[in-house]
Amino acid sequence: MSELSELYQQVILDHNKKPRNYHKLESANRVAEGHNPLCGDQLTVYMQLEDEVVKDLSFEGSGCAISKAAASMMTQSVKGKTRVEAETLFKEFHSMVKGELDEEAQPNNLGRLKIFSGVRDYPARVKCASLSWHTMHAALQGEEAASTET
Ligand code: ZN
Repeated sequence: MSELSELYQQVILDHNKKPRNYHKLESANRVAEGHNPLCGDQLTVYMQLEDEVVKDLSFEGSGCAISKAAASMMTQSVKGKTRVEAETLFKEFHSMVKGELDEEAQPNNLGRLKIFSGVRDYPARVKCASLSWHTMHAALQGEEAASTET
């Protein structure tokens, strides 16, 4: 097992056991639901958007370890970001897991989110990893449901 996949395993286990920002957000003014029928992952993203800044962000739901860990890390990465920064991260993350971005060679803001690069080798897992990002994107757009089809 490579060093990266060991780190990946550790991070997934840790975030799955202790998901960050895992609660309902009373101050949310945007709420979106995400559903990945392929795996059965289901989550709700709560967002407090003020002056084009994501002031607070949380999630609740049920699903596999990857979807939960990815959602947990998504909330950590996007909290405090502007709408433009959040959309950029969404695009970069999505491109990375679909194998369209070389996260080591091309400039990006992914940072520790790079540990999810390995899911591109497992097409069935791509939607697990990106579900929370699609749902966050839907919340930013003011939509109530996320699609993982795009
Ligand atoms: Zn899943």
